[in-house]
Formats: sequence, C-alpha cells, structure tokens
Amino acid sequence: MNEIDRKTSGAHSCPICGKPVEPAFKPFCSKRCADIDLNRWLSGVYAVPAKDDDGERPDEGEASKQ
Ligand SMILES: [Zn+2]
Repeated sequence: MNEIDRKTSGAHSCPICGKPVEPAFKPFCSKRCADIDLNRWLSGVYAVPAKDDDGERPDEGEASKQ
C-alpha cells in the first residue's frame, strides 16, 4: 500500500500530464507544463477546493450578484 501511495502522491510525476519529472523543471516534466500550471494559478483554478469544501463558504453569494 505504501508503494501505491507514494506513486500516486505526485512527488515524482508531472501534476499536469503525469509524465516523469525532469529535475530542470521540477516539479513538472517540461517548461510547457510549468506554464500550464502557472496559467491555472492565474485563472484561479487552484483557488477552488470544490472537493474539500461542501459549499459551506458563502463566497458564491457575492460572486453571483451579477
Ligand atoms: Zn508534464
């Protein structure tokens, strides 16, 4: 079980495409994936912990006033 857990932890695979990480682009496999990750950050994808949050935050109320 420990081996599986380590494999799926993403420590040695690109979080974008799942390929092996290149030390030069850690923690990604290439600059391309690093750019993709950066774009995700900028667009706020990582700022939405939908899985962990069961909607107990009233943030949507403010966002949906348009
Ligand atoms: Zn990648």
